[in-house]
Amino acid sequence: MTILKESKALAEQIIQWRRHLHANPELGFQEFETAKFIAGELEKLGLDPKCNVGRTGVVASLGSGKPCIALRADMDALPIQDEKDVEYASQRPGVMHACGHDAHVAMLLGVATILVNHQDLLNGEVRFVFQPFEEGQDKDGFGGADLMVKDNVLDGVDAIIGQHVHGELEAGTFQTKTGFFSAAVDTFYGEIQGKGCHGAYPHNGIDPIFITAQIINAVQGIIGRRIDPLEPAVISFGEIQAGTAANIIPPNVKVSGTIRSLDPKIRTQLQKDLTKAFQLSRSFGGNYKLKITEGYPSIENNPKLVQLLREVATAFLPPEKISDGGLGMGAEDFAVFSSLVPGVFYYLGTALDPPRLHHGPDFDINDSVLYIGTAIMAETALRYLQNPITLENGEK
Ligand SMILES: [Zn+2]
Ligand SMILES: [Zn+2]
Repeated sequence: MTILKESKALAEQIIQWRRHLHANPELGFQEFETAKFIAGELEKLGLDPKCNVGRTGVVASLGSGKPCIALRADMDALPIQDEKDVEYASQRPGVMHACGHDAHVAMLLGVATILVNHQDLLNGEVRFVFQPFEEGQDKDGFGGADLMVKDNVLDGVDAIIGQHVHGELEAGTFQTKTGFFSAAVDTFYGEIQGKGCHGAYPHNGIDPIFITAQIINAVQGIIGRRIDPLEPAVISFGEIQAGTAANIIPPNVKVSGTIRSLDPKIRTQLQKDLTKAFQLSRSFGGNYKLKITEGYPSIENNPKLVQLLREVATAFLPPEKISDGGLGMGAEDFAVFSSLVPGVFYYLGTALDPPRLHHGPDFDINDSVLYIGTAIMAETALRYLQNPITLENGEK
């Protein structure tokens, strides 16, 4: 129980950190002040943080040797105008911590503060990973986790833990599950090519709008007829662009959309079947171009790490505050880490009344419960290092 008490004693400090960051948000790969702030706080604890890891990330280690557990917090904000009327509202026009990554940083600083006081109990290394740009990718398709991995942040890491505040889950609750936790996300960009002509004489051309309609129907058939009904899968068209006037059949149609799945086998099948659906355009005398860009994989929570985390949550929280679940078709780039080393991701409920939606201009959280997230992470890291579980090869 002592870690929970120590964390509770830190609750005000964690809130202060979070509100400072909330007032000073920075976009992905521009987290310069944020990184400086994190490094400054870590130095105060006697740690030796490394900056510019994964471009604007910060990493620090406590203890050394094996095993090594990494604890991850993302640190980027979003291009949204903060419309809240609170004293810690964003001071940067058009930029806002609308997903709660400020809270993740504050909680991880809390974990570092607690574990520094328990260095004697650490049989191994705790690596604090402050990751930039979770919310998107740069023009070369790299997000913060990708670049941190390139900078060897996972070298020697045996397990990794990440948490996310959840603005719609009751404040002070804990939620996770074994297995898939977030979706793999791929994006497609297509062009359906026909032959333009007068709208009154369609037989003189090849109508790409008509062909596109067939393709959209066929794509719905992939989900309905080709994929096992027990396997989650989504293909959504998000953009369709064509035409210049009511009486002209245009020469081509441009489309884009998102593909979501959990199982890597389903992910591959969706990509193949989507390509087949676009090939329909040839049956109608047209042609197509299709580019599928692979984004993040899905998070697959390691069963033994879930068990450990749940034991810790059970020690700190009454049973009604702990639930099994959290799987959604959203994406989270923690998956980049957890596809390489065994990992677990969980939600900390932080709902206000009424709840505020993530990525909305009034997003806010009940930050009085952040100390619980800090306590759960700190205690899990301690228990893991004191009694390392064997996470077998291939058991992600
Ligand atoms: Zn977000
Ligand atoms: Zn987020």
